[in-house]
Amino acid sequence: MNAQEIRIAASSLRLHLAMLKLFRYRVTSTAGVAEELRDRLAHREENFLTSVERLVFANPRSPYRALLEVAGYDWPMLRQLVLTRGLDAALDQLRVDSVYVRVGEFKGLEPAVRRGRTFRFQERDFANPHISGVLRAQSGGTRTRRTQSDISAEEFLEWVKFRLWLLEGYGLRERDVVIWANLPEGLRYLLQETSTGRRAICFTLLRPPGLGYVLLVLAARVLSGRPVPFLRSARAAQAVELARYISKTNTPRGTLVSTFDSSAVRLVIAAEEAGIDMGDVVFWIGGEPLTPLKHQQFARHGHRVVSMFAFSEFGVAAWSCPRGEEADDLHVLTDRVALRQYTRPVGQNGTTVSSYLFTSLLPYTRHVMINVESGDYGKLGKRRCGCFLDEAGFSLHMHTILSFEKLTAEGMTFIGPGLITLLEEDLPREFGGDSRHYQLVEGEDGRGLTRLFLLVSPQVGPVDEDALRERVLGAIADRHLLSRRGRTIGRIWRGADTIYLLRREPLATESGKVLHLHTARGALLADAAIPPDSQQQR
Ligand SMILES: [Zn+2]
Repeated sequence: MNAQEIRIAASSLRLHLAMLKLFRYRVTSTAGVAEELRDRLAHREENFLTSVERLVFANPRSPYRALLEVAGYDWPMLRQLVLTRGLDAALDQLRVDSVYVRVGEFKGLEPAVRRGRTFRFQERDFANPHISGVLRAQSGGTRTRRTQSDISAEEFLEWVKFRLWLLEGYGLRERDVVIWANLPEGLRYLLQETSTGRRAICFTLLRPPGLGYVLLVLAARVLSGRPVPFLRSARAAQAVELARYISKTNTPRGTLVSTFDSSAVRLVIAAEEAGIDMGDVVFWIGGEPLTPLKHQQFARHGHRVVSMFAFSEFGVAAWSCPRGEEADDLHVLTDRVALRQYTRPVGQNGTTVSSYLFTSLLPYTRHVMINVESGDYGKLGKRRCGCFLDEAGFSLHMHTILSFEKLTAEGMTFIGPGLITLLEEDLPREFGGDSRHYQLVEGEDGRGLTRLFLLVSPQVGPVDEDALRERVLGAIADRHLLSRRGRTIGRIWRGADTIYLLRREPLATESGKVLHLHTARGALLADAAIPPDSQQQR
């Protein structure tokens, strides 16, 4: 074990020990949640200002201090702007004045150039100085060296309470839960369910849980006084076994399956092919866009779906509307986030997208955000739908969400402008053609499983397709910010045959230009070039 591995192991141990303590708590009532939400919605300006005062102006290392300074804002001016114009208009003005952060700048992958000044930020610069990751860390006296301590039980429990409130709203509170996720997130979901007294079991997607997790569950049983089940394993290829398990254990109360979009589709297909009736199942999903085709796969089998929009730098920012007009119609959680849009170019060929910009409003946000890109774009608008989220005051909807700088499949997200360099420069150099000839398209096969289609123009001439596919997977593994994470993604996508090579011209966008990371949403399916069940031929 080298020093870095020891650090990772130690921080993982701290995470698990902190998590373990939370198994003692019980959350059975949602009293006060609606009032709290109303109060936050009524005080968005004040909450934003308090947050900026504490997390930006009181933090000499905050990147926003530099951005605000270059834009000519001090604290009184910023305060004045927000109080006179309102939060949304103030954020738009700040963006015009160059106070925003691109996804590549946030990740430390590209410098931020504003009004002739160049800044190099790292993701950790944006971290909430009072919090580290999902764990609460109290500033240990000095600002340069933070010391980690407990997860704040209050905050965690507040989140659990809000989730319970959502479950009530969606009419799902009484259901037993099957979690199908990666570790350690799966354990966190199990903890959330256990603390509300619900029956839950967790299957891990990637690898069987090790001895450490057996010990954790044993400890959790002692602390919670509840029969917390051992973690079990069900790889993507074992979906049929999970379907059989659900079919056997389902009750008249019904089951809630919490997993990624693609995994949920996989489960539905596996059950259908094996002739298994899973019974009354509702899917609670996130991690990928819920496309119309995926939505149909669930609806066709009578399964309801609750989806969310989340990104790891912030957490969940929107929940699905039970009266949605689109497959991915979501209510933005405007009590904790402000969501704006702006037009920005993508790649070198003049294509633009209407990128989302997120601003965090609450003091315990994971990362401090002022007009930060998530790498997604889509539609945004106010609408009264009359559902429980609308009644609670969330009238802003986002939908038809696409990614411009990240690829998501099998619950794994790859992020990085490196992909655009790969497509526009590296592949043409190594395999022929030029920057217009390659495109990665996030799409679906005929059954709703997410595939990454690598489109290669016929003009390039003959290419070694296996070598090309391997080159792209290799680049994904190498270029991810966290090399371990990159290798995991490469392994999962290789195992799930996620990358599918097509010899055809890249797709043009609505503006007639090629977008190198294009979410096609079935556009490719209209093309007879893809068989309805596009299992990769090797
Ligand atoms: Zn709604």
